[in-house]
Amino acid sequence: MKIKNKALFLDRDGVINKNYGYVFSTKNFVWLKYVKKAIKYAYNKKYLIIVITNQSGVARGLYSENDIKKLHDKINKDLKKINCKIHDFFYCPYHPKYGNEKYRKNSYLRKPNPGMILKAVRKWNIDLSKSVMIGDKKIDMIAAKRSNLKFIKKKYNLLREVKKSNF
Ligand SMILES: [Mg+2]
Repeated sequence: MKIKNKALFLDRDGVINKNYGYVFSTKNFVWLKYVKKAIKYAYNKKYLIIVITNQSGVARGLYSENDIKKLHDKINKDLKKINCKIHDFFYCPYHPKYGNEKYRKNSYLRKPNPGMILKAVRKWNIDLSKSVMIGDKKIDMIAAKRSNLKFIKKKYNLLREVKKSNF
């Protein structure tokens, strides 16, 4: 049987970067303290690093999916300088109440639903029992719970949370 991967799932806004609300441009993206170190630490321990983020700003017409992709490219450009990376980004652009036909829907992908996590699990052959999710909101916790994934609420800095889990 093929060996499965372990993964560190991370919420984005409020966990990786300062959350000003609807962060989408590289200009208002500010790394939180110790996050890069935490990612490198987990990366070196052979964890897949997977971001799981609701981005209803797309449905609300505040920014585009292309803006999100550009921002995620910038994040990985920064991480490349310290020889690590985020392996994959899953974002949900939908919202149940806002947006045009394309973006207004009750999506299974939108946290607290587990859709994005389960999609990542299939794509990357992830062993959930060896994986963990770190988030700052209740919706992150619920999404993790619904996926049978261990959850840590971010309280201090990410490096501390990562080291506290059983890495
Ligand atoms: Mg958050």
